[in-house]
Amino acid sequence: MCAMEVSALDRITSFITVAIVSAVPLLHPTVIDAAPDPANGAVASIDANATAIGTEVLRNGGNAVDAAVATAAALGVTDPFSSGIGGGGFFVYYDADTNKVHTLDGRETAPGTADHTLFLENGAPIPFTEAVSSGLGVGTPGTPMTWHYALEKWGTHSLSEALAPAEKLARKGFTVDSTFAGQIENNAERFSRFPATAKLYLPGGKAPAQGSNFKNPDLARTYHDLRRYGITSLYRGDIGRDIVKTVNHPQSTTPVRPGLLTEDDLGEYEVIERAPVNSSYRGLDIYGMAPPSSGTTTVGEALNIIETFPPGSAVDQFHRYLEASRLAFADRNRWVGDPEFVEVPTDRLLSQEFANTRACLIKDNATLQSPVAPGDSDEDCDNTGTPAPTNYEGKDTTHLTVADKWGNVVSYTLTIEQEGGSGMVVPGRGFILNNELTDFSFAPANANTPDPNLPGPSKRPRSSMAPLIVFKDGQVWLAIGSPGGATIITTVLQIMIGRVDQGLSLTDAIAAPRASQRNAAKTDAEPAFMSGPLRAELESRGQVFTQVPEIGAATGVEKTADGNWIAAAEPTRRGGGSAVVVP
Ligand code: GLU
Repeated sequence: MCAMEVSALDRITSFITVAIVSAVPLLHPTVIDAAPDPANGAVASIDANATAIGTEVLRNGGNAVDAAVATAAALGVTDPFSSGIGGGGFFVYYDADTNKVHTLDGRETAPGTADHTLFLENGAPIPFTEAVSSGLGVGTPGTPMTWHYALEKWGTHSLSEALAPAEKLARKGFTVDSTFAGQIENNAERFSRFPATAKLYLPGGKAPAQGSNFKNPDLARTYHDLRRYGITSLYRGDIGRDIVKTVNHPQSTTPVRPGLLTEDDLGEYEVIERAPVNSSYRGLDIYGMAPPSSGTTTVGEALNIIETFPPGSAVDQFHRYLEASRLAFADRNRWVGDPEFVEVPTDRLLSQEFANTRACLIKDNATLQSPVAPGDSDEDCDNTGTPAPTNYEGKDTTHLTVADKWGNVVSYTLTIEQEGGSGMVVPGRGFILNNELTDFSFAPANANTPDPNLPGPSKRPRSSMAPLIVFKDGQVWLAIGSPGGATIITTVLQIMIGRVDQGLSLTDAIAAPRASQRNAAKTDAEPAFMSGPLRAELESRGQVFTQVPEIGAATGVEKTADGNWIAAAEPTRRGGGSAVVVP
């Protein structure tokens, strides 16, 4: 086939794919696509129904913010164990008109009465698993206000318009796939303890069958109320009262720790528009979320460290990626928390001078012994501080990426913390409450080292979410992000390295086998990495790997030189994502 024929075939495939995805919910959709002509935009998410709703918004003239909110609301229906109005997130937006990046911090907050003892009992941390499925771990949700804020400020649709397709989806239902059913099965034991959760997600005592239609009429009604009465119905109304009741008086068949949330906590909640954090890598400009997310500072620091090395072999590159992650995580754990409570040295963490003091610790023929210490002086190659461990974070957030025909871009990561959040559905409301407060350190790792991430009144727990927008020569080039708790940082880093240093396409950079080093003795690695070509040589340099089933579930969009969009999602992780370019 000559080049002309291939390109004609691509055009047809592109059209057909887009048409099918918008019309029919597919079971395992994986669409990775580029439009033939300057495109009307692109949407990439983990779910075909959600992506179809986002593309429909774009096709009907909505902008990237309208489409992002509509897609996120749909994910609240079809990906409810990762996100929804019971959670929070970080929204990064590039406004093509003003050529500016804006970021919204919609992170959940601790109750106003919380202090550093929130997760202590008789001076000792309570068991993590008890905090996970409890009222105590629930923070004030930030997602509904993030949607409202983003639409008011940059959208062209009202909240009512943006939530309409998701309300319909919740009412009419969607086809259960193996990911949805599997996530319920993973949580069946704890879901069964909360009658409202069991009623919704364990009908007849088990997960709905794959291929069956799943409806959530309670969530449809809740979306309807939000559309009709606005977000005050949640932050100062009946939905909020139900949230507070569920948190403080959990209905469970076994004892569950209640929380401390009040109606005032909800009433006083604010989305914070923060100045974006900016760093550079090999001439690219990277914009992302400021603390309390540690995502951009940690990705940026690691890239600055890697940039000090000349390009090497594939093994050299991977070794340095692992070592840079190790060091950047040590600094993240020591320095990053909610900036309203601790002084976060963001500029220093992202300065090349600081990266240089860390990079000189890396040897190409040996591996640093974790936990490595944070860099806490300006001395070259200082490694004398006290390390803090990387705490466990859930792995089941969701990331969506949208671009529109005007060049606006949204990179949005949202979460309810771990898979299934707190496990508690608000009775009669159809959504799960987060357990985001478990992202706080329950107690300082070391008595003599301050921990920036202890709970506090109305404090936001440190996050790893790293929704990024990357610019080349002053123009938007890439937008990427991923779920995965602390592995978000390494996933985004690895995609950047794959795309920029290895010259992989965005699609291939997302699909590549992953390994994640977070200042631990062992590096988590996917099966494909374990059986891949780099492992043995990395082990000979001292790297130690341990196999995990899967790391991250990324999505992204990329602008091509001719002004087109490429949208990319996972081919297989999390059952495969859905990426569509609107022709
Ligand atoms: N709670 C985590 C964070 O904010 C995200 C959890 C996840 O990705 O599943 O970093």
